[in-house]
Amino acid sequence: MTPRRLTSVLIANRGEIACRVIRTARRLGLRTIAVHSEADREALHVALADEAYPIGPAPAAESYLRADRILAAAARAGADCIHPGYGFLSERPDFAEACAQAGIAFVGPPASAIRAMGLKDAAKALVAQAGVPVVPGYHGARQEPDFLAAEAAAIGYPVLIKAVAGGGGKGMRRVDGPEDFAAALASAQREASGAFGDPRVLVEKYVLAPRHVEIQVFCDAHGNAVHLFERDCSLQRRHQKVIEEAPAPGMPPEVRAAMGRAAVEAARAVGYVGAGTIEFIADGREGLRADGFWFMEMNTRLQVEHPVTEAITGHDLVEWQFRVAAGEPLPVARQDDLAIRGHAVEARLYAEDPAGGFLPSTGRLLALELPAGEGIRIDTGVRAGDSVTPYYDPMIAKVIAHGASRDEALDRLAGALGRTLVAGPRSNVAFLKALAEAPEFRAGRFDTGFIDRDLAALTGAGASHDAEVRRGVAALVARARPAPGPGPASPWDADDGFQLGQARRQAWPVLVEGEAREAVLHWPEPGTGGSLRVAFGDEAAAAASAAGPMRVVETPRGVLVVSGGRQVAVEAPDPFDVDLDHIDDRGGTIKAPMHGRLVEVLVAPGDRVVRGQRLAIVEAMKMEHALTAPADGEVAEVSAQAGQQVAEGARLITLKTEDAA
Ligand code: ADP
Repeated sequence: MTPRRLTSVLIANRGEIACRVIRTARRLGLRTIAVHSEADREALHVALADEAYPIGPAPAAESYLRADRILAAAARAGADCIHPGYGFLSERPDFAEACAQAGIAFVGPPASAIRAMGLKDAAKALVAQAGVPVVPGYHGARQEPDFLAAEAAAIGYPVLIKAVAGGGGKGMRRVDGPEDFAAALASAQREASGAFGDPRVLVEKYVLAPRHVEIQVFCDAHGNAVHLFERDCSLQRRHQKVIEEAPAPGMPPEVRAAMGRAAVEAARAVGYVGAGTIEFIADGREGLRADGFWFMEMNTRLQVEHPVTEAITGHDLVEWQFRVAAGEPLPVARQDDLAIRGHAVEARLYAEDPAGGFLPSTGRLLALELPAGEGIRIDTGVRAGDSVTPYYDPMIAKVIAHGASRDEALDRLAGALGRTLVAGPRSNVAFLKALAEAPEFRAGRFDTGFIDRDLAALTGAGASHDAEVRRGVAALVARARPAPGPGPASPWDADDGFQLGQARRQAWPVLVEGEAREAVLHWPEPGTGGSLRVAFGDEAAAAASAAGPMRVVETPRGVLVVSGGRQVAVEAPDPFDVDLDHIDDRGGTIKAPMHGRLVEVLVAPGDRVVRGQRLAIVEAMKMEHALTAPADGEVAEVSAQAGQQVAEGARLITLKTEDAA
């Protein structure tokens, strides 16, 4: 392959990965071309790129997964190459082929290699032929329940049923004995059909105390192939990676060499070119051993967790990808010229609610502070003020820490997470910090079951937030009645419950996380220099808090008090009081005031409504918000259905108002 000069790249992705690719492309002097859905018009990746092209509505199936629209944008922009990032079209062989047909270089492996590794059963057979250890199991075509049960018995329990077309842990079931096999099989097949449109499964030995150790490989079109060492991704929740690190704790050099060799063999077996990752599962009961790891699958793309490899090797993997796509040889083609420097960890910061089953949490990022610091790298695709929408992966950022030792890297990670502020959507920052500080994990004693075994402690479930609530109430009070100044001229001017001879008490109703509570305000005696104290019920008003530093972030309805990575919403008590900024009453258009779920539509086209009448209810962050008619009129159109997710600003109902008529 003769090198060709690449001068421009279209990034067929969004979010942090699009931003990360743009950064390297720009450094290499490439013109950068973004694509975006309607929901991403103002996204960071669009702002960073030199040019941007719209490719369709918010749902990924109508935009980021539309190969035809992306190729049309590439043609219009005159892009030399397309970088797919990860997810979306990155592992679609048809897309790689379509790029080639359009004369555009695909920054990724050949379509044939993607295809060969695409199905877990075929991939396992192929690499086993090349001498790579695979997990003992049945990877064949037969799918009759009795046959598979017999295979499971032959393999020996516990076994793992996996979807052949799997990904993201879907269609996966651990089975501990023959009596549970039939039910587990049926449910794995159901889930696989639903998720991948392919019910086929394979059955393999369930590896005990499993550790997920993967090897970064890189191949060029000149026959060079190297590995860039391993990453340990054993810190998982429900088979999804949470914290990744490189190198793997307790990795003996001879095991690393054996895994690296096996990974390079697996890549060679499919004629691989570009960046790829070979995932192994290792038996962690007695540490990592050369005879204790097995091939699981190959990811034929850049991985989310590639930054930890970049940190310990000092090489920019995206730069390598561009060079290989241009037909150049690998920047480092000899294995012996690569070395590990220090230790790196990455934490995936998500807009999700650890206390609420890790459900994604959408909405506007009212505040976002991502820390800088020695050895800290942040990869993000959002800024304060941006919204986390229900359409895409709710990742906010990756926080990567590099240090001379594992302890130093983890200390830096925990420190950085402690300085991270996310307000608006809930986030897993406190959970990640607890993980980075967990003694067993710090000691290197963990496997893929670590998080699920200790979930309650790690999510801080049931932790008290009284101090935050008191602080929130004080902030609301200050907002409602600005600083008392020198004090009322006469006690009779005060309207705050002043009573002669007693503490100045006042009841103050609030909503704490949507729940009605009554705070009692204890005002200081005028002239004593004391400050307001807030109490609930009989609790001692003075109970001073031992909480850490708190931050108060204003919201349209109240405040969010953020402390230790958790937030508490303290709001004014009228839940049906709609934020009028969000209603365009001249046009009679009722829009969703925030991202959420439309719980109920209370009117139908043709209905007459009066000003203030409730029209619909939107639920967001576990709170219901009623939308009311801004004026008398008639319902002209209802544009959304109950049960639907709605994005902030989406038109829900149109009124023909009296004054507009
Ligand atoms: P997916 O493609 O759905 O992500 P993988 O095959 O990559 O599935 O496996 C995901 C995770 O499931 C692994 O990281 C590991 O934690 C667990 N796992 C997979 N295979 C086994 C096995 N044979 N024994 C124990 N755990 C396994």
